[in-house]
Amino acid sequence: MNDVADCLFCKIIKREIPASIVYEDDRVLAFNDINPQAPTHMLIVPKQHIASLNDLQPHDDGIVGELVRRAAAIARDRGISGAGFRTVFNTNREAGQTVFHIHLHLLGGRAMEWPPV
Ligand code: 5GP
Ligand code: ZN
Repeated sequence: MNDVADCLFCKIIKREIPASIVYEDDRVLAFNDINPQAPTHMLIVPKQHIASLNDLQPHDDGIVGELVRRAAAIARDRGISGAGFRTVFNTNREAGQTVFHIHLHLLGGRAMEWPPV
């Protein structure tokens, strides 16, 4: 499902599907994961459709930096940056990517193990 027209997160960005939105600007949207794996579990996405990290181009460096800095800012606002948080991009099948519009998972509010299973 790499097509923009069928993309779940593009539909959330266009407000065609509801989501619990926690942050928005011209380029970035952040919303709560529908199936949270930690007390804080949000997805930070670019408004432009990029299917996976495998599709990134040099001109995408800026938006990827914005996603990462936004995750850190949200963690700070939630009061979890000191205790710690995890940020994850899953890419393709073996990593468990299910939605093919890049999204940075922000997980926090509990202790986590490493390595991930
Ligand atoms: P992935 O497995 O691709 O890294 O992550 C996709 C994430 O999107 C999963 O954590 C899943 O719970 C979340 N998700 C799937 N469908 C929806 C939805 O309709 N709304 C929201 N808010 N999250 C979703
Ligand atoms: Zn999309």
